[in-house]
Amino acid sequence: MNPADVVVAVAGAALGVDVQAEVAGTVVEAGEAAKEWLGRRVVVPRILSCGDCAACRRGRVAHCPARATRAGLAERETVGARWLANVEPPLWPDGVELWQLAALADAALAPYTALSRAGVGPGDRVVVVGRDARARFAAAIAIAKGATVEEDASAGAIVLAAGPADYARALSLVAPGVTLVLLDGAPALPPLATDWSALVAAEAHVLGAVGGHPDLLPELCALVVRGQLRLGDQVRRVALADAEQAHAAYLADGGALPIAIPA
Ligand SMILES: [Zn+2]
Repeated sequence: MNPADVVVAVAGAALGVDVQAEVAGTVVEAGEAAKEWLGRRVVVPRILSCGDCAACRRGRVAHCPARATRAGLAERETVGARWLANVEPPLWPDGVELWQLAALADAALAPYTALSRAGVGPGDRVVVVGRDARARFAAAIAIAKGATVEEDASAGAIVLAAGPADYARALSLVAPGVTLVLLDGAPALPPLATDWSALVAAEAHVLGAVGGHPDLLPELCALVVRGQLRLGDQVRRVALADAEQAHAAYLADGGALPIAIPA
């Protein structure tokens, strides 16, 4: 094992946008340089970027050419310790089970990163389009940041689409000075015809976002610790054997985020 690597025993793997890569668990083995991680509960973010290249220095972690690949749904994952988010106290949220924190790896981190990039803050008006866990997390995060969540876009509103199925509706909610925040997701859909003239006339901003930034995970954990982001209603546990079916149903129907629990 690489001295800086650890082995994480997976407590839960979220079946969100990237089934292989949204994990919470406990460090059960550690290399020489990572011994202090042994026994800690951790969240492994979806995107494992190098942190050092030109893309990473701009915060565009999804475009990191040295991004680590993931091994797939498994009971254990070997990963560099530098990417782990430590969720031991004071970042351990009372009343939460470790498997539930897999929801933070992307389903909550992606909207958190996108809303941060859009500069959401107190007094802003946010419209969330979507019916999956990302959409519900986006609304909770917007409120935690002091924004109000509204049904219809008004001038200057921030409109977030939780995934590709939500782009068309988000793009139709045009108001003067609106900021459209479009999250990546699965499944990919055919190209969308868009009325660019309406977006130009509104002087809209359009912001794409692929996944979340791993460095923001501790901030996100703090929201859970403070009770501003609740996981219980937004997640449900499924057996690893049922993962494929649960994932397909989630992509089709939205609802609570399925999290696979190894046997
Ligand atoms: Zn990089």
